[in-house]
Amino acid sequence: MTETREVVLKRLNKRLAAISDVGSANSVLFWDQQTYMPKGAIVGRAEQMATLSRLAHEMLVDSETDRLLDAAGDPDPEIVEGALIRRARRDHEKATRLPSRLVEELSRATALAEPAWAEARANSDWSRFAPHLEKIMPLQREVAESLGYEDHVYDALLDGYEPGATKARLEVMFDELKAGIVPMIRAISSENGGDRAALLHGEFDEATQERFGEEVATSFGYDWEHGRQDRVVHPFCLNLGPGDVRITTRFDPDWLSPALFGTMHETGHALYEQGVDPSYARTPLANGTSMGVHESQSRLWENLAGHSRPFWSCFYPRLRSAFPEALGGVESEEFYSAINAVSPSMIRVEADEVTYNLHIVLRFELEVALLEGSLSVADLPDAWNAKMEEYLGLTPKNDAEGALQDVHWAAGLFGYFPTYAIGNVLSVQLFDEAVKNQPGIPDAMRSGEFSALLGWLRENVHRHGARYYPDELVRRVTGRPLETGPYLRYLNDKYGELYDLTR
Ligand code: ZN
Repeated sequence: MTETREVVLKRLNKRLAAISDVGSANSVLFWDQQTYMPKGAIVGRAEQMATLSRLAHEMLVDSETDRLLDAAGDPDPEIVEGALIRRARRDHEKATRLPSRLVEELSRATALAEPAWAEARANSDWSRFAPHLEKIMPLQREVAESLGYEDHVYDALLDGYEPGATKARLEVMFDELKAGIVPMIRAISSENGGDRAALLHGEFDEATQERFGEEVATSFGYDWEHGRQDRVVHPFCLNLGPGDVRITTRFDPDWLSPALFGTMHETGHALYEQGVDPSYARTPLANGTSMGVHESQSRLWENLAGHSRPFWSCFYPRLRSAFPEALGGVESEEFYSAINAVSPSMIRVEADEVTYNLHIVLRFELEVALLEGSLSVADLPDAWNAKMEEYLGLTPKNDAEGALQDVHWAAGLFGYFPTYAIGNVLSVQLFDEAVKNQPGIPDAMRSGEFSALLGWLRENVHRHGARYYPDELVRRVTGRPLETGPYLRYLNDKYGELYDLTR
């Protein structure tokens, strides 16, 4: 009996839904590991997650998946069904190139490396993490070689996070950013405006920080019926399956910024996931289309909204009355200047908008070198410190504020860092387009109203999930490819005014 096309699609969808469920179950285990799991469960949890990764991988590469994808044909990707098959085929083909043994080994290696990294960072002891990275590097190279690439081994890994991106195109983007940003930093540094950000340090009660963060997330449009917030060392947002998109944060009782802006950032990611068309649930279209587009959403809410005058003209009076002792004597404009203070620093996640991308350039260059084999794990901390000196004029005093600061390499996320810079650049391109189409957005923000901005993003970006690839989406929405022009103009305008650089 021959299958009708309808039956083929039904079977394919059922199979993709099961694969998505296994992935969601793994996300629940991951979320638990990061939030509440007792330390002693590390080894057992690593095995559980490796098993689920292997199961999902086996289902994806199974000959039945292959047969159904073949039978489903090649419908126009402009329609949803075609886009879904195109994504599923991409996932299937990528997975087919990776042996199950390799997927499982990498999953186990990274599950063990992450707690080792956390301890290494806490003790600023590179030697505790180095053996894990030594194990991860050859596995990453094997993954890249198995996936295949046209120009450079790095492209194979990058494509996993940012479909269509290449090392060569990134180098152009980074050159444009460096050319625009390095002189700006020099001019700002020579202004020497003192420590504008000092007032963000002080006593900030954690529970009050948490309530204020929740208030901001709620006003942005985060849906608490379909999410929650918990505490972790390294904050993230995670889609745990249909109707469940969670955010995490960390609090510093002596510093306002990490939780405040971290919450805005993760909320931005969550709004994207919560805004995907619900009919895409349990399909390969149910998530954001790429890490770069994802980061454009988190950075848009964190920076274009959360570091803007319109936002704070509404929220600053509320913040000041929440922390009367720390902020009672601080005027709104002083606060705005503090949160937008530019100052080269060691830690990427604490970096201001202007210096942030140089942290990414550094990581990009180092991970390319690690992958090529031109840089050894043993030499990484020194190479890191040398680049910090070159780009930001600073030398880390230990590896905790140097090569150990980020979890990414422990998690096996090679090729991921550049998506942060793509996100920064794209956040402004999209925000400009939103305001061009809805000129009332800044005024609405002044009264704490974000539904026009969220509505525009929902309509043009969020609801599509992974239906379009990043390049397609950006062209559809803005009529242009991803470009650094709007981003550099934004930085010039904003910081030119703040630091009086127009003279
Ligand atoms: Zn992010």
